[in-house]
Amino acid sequence: MLGRLSPGCEGTRAVFPSCNFSCTPCYHSADANSVRVDGMHTVTEIARQMDFLRRERGPVGHCQLIGGEVTLLPPEDHALALETMRFFGRIPMSFSHGDFDYDYLKRLAVKDGRRRFDRLDFALHFDMEMRGRRGIPRPRNESELTPYRQKLVDMFERLRREHGVRYYLAHNMTVQAANLPYIAQAVRESRAMGFRLLSFQPAAQQGAEKRWVDNLRSIADDDGEMVWQEIEKGMGIRLPYSLFQMGDVRCNRMCACAVLGPKGDPNVKIFPLFDDRCPQDARCRDLIVTNIGNIVMMPHLLAVKLVRTILTRPWLLIPALRWCLRIIARAGGLWPILHRGIRPLTIVMHRFMDAKDVSKAWDLMDDGVSSDDSRVDKAGPRIRETMERLASCSYAMAQPDQGRVVPACVQHSVYDPVENKELARLLSRRDKSQSATQAEVDRIRRTDLSNQQQSLNTNSSEQGCGTTCSG
Ligand code: SF4
Repeated sequence: MLGRLSPGCEGTRAVFPSCNFSCTPCYHSADANSVRVDGMHTVTEIARQMDFLRRERGPVGHCQLIGGEVTLLPPEDHALALETMRFFGRIPMSFSHGDFDYDYLKRLAVKDGRRRFDRLDFALHFDMEMRGRRGIPRPRNESELTPYRQKLVDMFERLRREHGVRYYLAHNMTVQAANLPYIAQAVRESRAMGFRLLSFQPAAQQGAEKRWVDNLRSIADDDGEMVWQEIEKGMGIRLPYSLFQMGDVRCNRMCACAVLGPKGDPNVKIFPLFDDRCPQDARCRDLIVTNIGNIVMMPHLLAVKLVRTILTRPWLLIPALRWCLRIIARAGGLWPILHRGIRPLTIVMHRFMDAKDVSKAWDLMDDGVSSDDSRVDKAGPRIRETMERLASCSYAMAQPDQGRVVPACVQHSVYDPVENKELARLLSRRDKSQSATQAEVDRIRRTDLSNQQQSLNTNSSEQGCGTTCSG
């Protein structure tokens, strides 16, 4: 589906590397916490990266505002970072450990009594191997974190009630041998909480070496199958993932489900929206891909695209209607849907790779070595697999200075350690932090607009060769 339904995901890098937790493992490089959090640096660097992503990957993209801990930014700087990402056509999602208060959330979303955003997207990372959460610095199992997960969802619900700011919440969790036995229970407890996405990352040897955990391979070497089975236990159903494969199956699995029943109800009914054992669902998927294509665009444009598709090919309404009937049948009829309500919930597994494999594979790829080269045979099957996965990566980060985007695995394994050393020198903790100001953001926008104008003038004579590349 990569490049057909979606260009994949994006993330920021080197914009605020520090974090106030100390987890094992931790994907941040050893120097990350020596870098001061500085709003001015964050916003200007984000503008550079987003401008590049827009030119390289297209006008709209889903982009994680990620680094260290995003809520270490003052709410004002956090809001400016989100506004800057939106300005460049990105749909931002703030990535946080979730240890913040309602006051922070409100100051982020509301200014002078008026809401700044209609909707906030957050990825909230919770797992029992995280260290430093207020109230529960060392959880003994995943269930002990359930009230903290609920508290966060309740905070967003309160923000919606009081200020009309809608929300999209993803729940993230690193999985390793220590918490694998608790995954099914954690899924059972959080599947009806109000999260729209539950994402699991089997742990890899990335980031600060002193925080590496020894036995990670035991749960990652089966392509994540063991983890997926635990998630299925928690969801209470088989989770078919092959119909909408994003990139390499050894990196990603995804299953879109429907949850029948109100939020908080432990007895919700769950079923997949597309089942790989149903040939009609597979046919529906093919029709979506061939007739609609890319769906990552501004909602009003997507609506126009859908209407135009139906007007030009009205026969598509028949398979669409049949798919709706299948959903009603899986729900057990129309009455339960009307009576209990229905919500979407997506399950995702994303399996990062070990830094030492990624570094070796990236060296070869940077040298232009292809997979049929004898040097790849010599490097072994593991490096071959790493190269194949990097080549179909669905999670990109911008390196504007090099004029390219790189896989997030490469960013963490190869570039983060060097960049964070440099940032620790530039943004020393001894110096004073600077907040980004609206005037500075306006200046960035003006500069960007004049750059765009210049580039349009330059490119207008090159139509037909270069301009389609960024679409
Ligand atoms: S190559 Fe790495 S960052 Fe890219 S999709 Fe695979 S695991 Fe994710």
